[in-house]
This record gives sequence, C-alpha cells and structure tokens, in this order.
Amino acid sequence: MVKETVFYDLLGVQPNASSEDLKKAYKKMALKYHPDKNPNEGERFKQISMAYEVLTDPEKRQIYDEGGESAIKKGGAGGGGPGFMSPMDIFEMFINGGMRSGGRRERRGKIIEHILNVTLEELYNGAVRKLALQKIVICDKCEGRGGKKGCVSKCQTCRGTGSEIRIHQIFPGMVQQVEQICRQCSGLGETIATKDRCKQCNGKKTIRDRNVLEVHIEKGMQHGQKIVFSGQGNQESPDIEPGDISVVLNEKKHSVYKRLELDLLLTLPIILTESLCGFRKIIKTLDNRDLLITHLPGQVIKTGDIKCVMGEGMPQYKNPFEKGRLILNFEVIFPTFIAPELIPKLETCLPPRPRIDISMDSDSMEECTLVDYNPEQDNRQRRSQQAYEEDDDGYNQGPRIQQCTTS
Ligand SMILES: [Zn+2]
Ligand SMILES: [Zn+2]
Repeated sequence: MVKETVFYDLLGVQPNASSEDLKKAYKKMALKYHPDKNPNEGERFKQISMAYEVLTDPEKRQIYDEGGESAIKKGGAGGGGPGFMSPMDIFEMFINGGMRSGGRRERRGKIIEHILNVTLEELYNGAVRKLALQKIVICDKCEGRGGKKGCVSKCQTCRGTGSEIRIHQIFPGMVQQVEQICRQCSGLGETIATKDRCKQCNGKKTIRDRNVLEVHIEKGMQHGQKIVFSGQGNQESPDIEPGDISVVLNEKKHSVYKRLELDLLLTLPIILTESLCGFRKIIKTLDNRDLLITHLPGQVIKTGDIKCVMGEGMPQYKNPFEKGRLILNFEVIFPTFIAPELIPKLETCLPPRPRIDISMDSDSMEECTLVDYNPEQDNRQRRSQQAYEEDDDGYNQGPRIQQCTTS
C-alpha cells in the first residue's frame, strides 16, 4: 500500500510497476516531453525525470512509497538531502545506457569573475551600475541542436564515446596506449554533417550574445565583495546549466578619504594660526553634505593629533543607518618665513625661551654652522659611490679569470 501515487501517475504506471515497466514508461514520456520537442513542458519533463530517478532506486522508492514526495524531498535516506540529478543528465544516462557521452562533464558552466571598479562614493551612497558583457547562450535558431531535427549522428571515429585510443610508439619495440579526446568530434561523441549545420551557430549549438547586467551596489559594501548573478554566465552546451557571473568590487583610491573598514580617515591640514588660535572648518562628506567642525581657541592642536566625529564614517552593509567614525588626522602647516621685526611681538605671546649662558666658557666652545640636511641627496651620493667600488671589483676579476684558463 503506497502513500501517494503522484510519481507513478507522472510516468503512467501502476504502483506495482517493475523496473522494466518504469524504463519503458520513462522512455515514452521523456521523449514526448523532452525540451527539444516540447520547449514549453520543461517543468513536466523535470517532474518525469525526478519520478523516474526516485522509483528506479529501490531505497528511494521505499521512502517514497512510505512517506510520499515530502519524505523523499526531506532526504530520508541516511541524512542529508538526496540531491536530485538534473533531468538532462538522467535522460542522457538513460539514452546512453548508463554511460554519459563525451566523458565526464561539469553539470554547471564555470563561474566567470568580472572586476568592477567602484568609487568610495558609490560604496557610501549605493549605486546601480550597468555592466555589458558577452556570454555564450544556446543558439535560438536551432534550439541548441546544432542543425535540423535529427541531424546529429554518432561520431564514427569514437563510436560516440568522445575519446579514442591511440597507439604511441615510445621507442622501437615499445608502445603505449594513450586515451585522448576524439579529434573528429572534439570529445562530443556526435557529429553533424556540414550541409545540415545551423547557419547561425555553424553546428556549435551555442552563440555569443550581449548581456547587460544591472549591478546593485549596496551601501557599505566592501572592497573585494562579490555580487553573484546565478545562471547568468556562459552556457557552453545544451546539457549543462549556465554558470554564474561573479562581480568583484574593486574600490578605487579616493583623493581625500581613506577607508578603514567602517571608519573613514581624513588627513586635515591646518595652518599654525589655526592650530594655536582655534578654527572652524567645513568638510564635504561623501554624500555631498557639509560638516562644520569647530576647534575652540585655548587648546593647541599639534601635527599627528587625532580626533573623530562619531557616525560620519562608512555605513554598515545591510544596516546603513549605522555608520562608523570619521577620523581626522591633523597636520599643522608652519609658515616658512616670519618678518624679523614681528618676532619680539610674537615672543611676548609664546612661552619664554630657555636661557643659556655662553659668555663664561666661550674659549672651550666651537661655533658651528647649520646646513640643510637632505637624506635623498645623501642616498644618491652613497649609491654612486657603491657603483664606483663595484666597478673596481669587476676590473680586478679580469686577470684572475685569465689565470684559471691558462693553468
Ligand atoms: Zn544554431
Ligand atoms: Zn568522435
């Protein structure tokens, strides 16, 4: 007594059907509803294939008989989902008597990665970008057959296996058998006569097509984050699923801001007057707002001092109202010249200089001159000196080599 008969009904058999009955029924149904013949019956074809897969596996059939479709989908057999095969694979296995033609093939196309350069503004505000790509799709003119209906014939060279054994002579008297992809059919196991080939795809079953993807960049996305377009990639042949396209975000360097995960780092130059006397400054945010920051007089800001504004950093991904900090790194710009007549006045405002007494011991002191120090110039000098010395070494090696060769 079975719980439900849906799978049996799909194949048009009785619940006591033998495996021979199931095969016959599946063949009839699968050929009738195969996407080649009935492109609108894809769902029906899928169900027929699933029913066949379950009922021909004694373990799965028992689970189905006892618990119905829900039990089999839950994966009653020893934990883990049952993982159904693709209907095309089942059909292919059936037709080829358990052997898949053309050797092992991936069931899904490869993932294609595409790098998309994005600005920090786009990651802050979110954006939609259009990405025009080329992709391989099933030829619409021949519906992926490569030519007229019934044009495909088994490859004579490899007898449909997709591979051929070649005898390879390593050296006289010793040969090696090498299995390689059939050159006649490129491993497909089938050929199409030149005259029958589809004009659009030239028998390849696939064509290149323009594909425009709309990439939704969400607020707070990170550098290196992937946005996956499932099934939007290449479909290299009709019997595999199209692959995915993975768009990888590449954050462009910003002229002002540097991102540190959720925080935004900004180096803020101020002049000495601002550092000593206070200031008000306007900072443009990444969404074009003006932030007014005030530093009250009375406290001095030095180069390297760091302050932050809470909630003005990067928005959190998936929670964009929460934002990180805006971290301000101050850099004080000193004047390069002060008029000597202003110095006494300036001195009255600043802490007094420490006094040193030079009159007492002036005989034992040496007066020196300060010159500018330029480390880059120093390095350059050292390098040219080194090059000169190495040259010297090379010259010395000359005679030594000569000695070796003559002895
Ligand atoms: Zn075609
Ligand atoms: Zn072949």
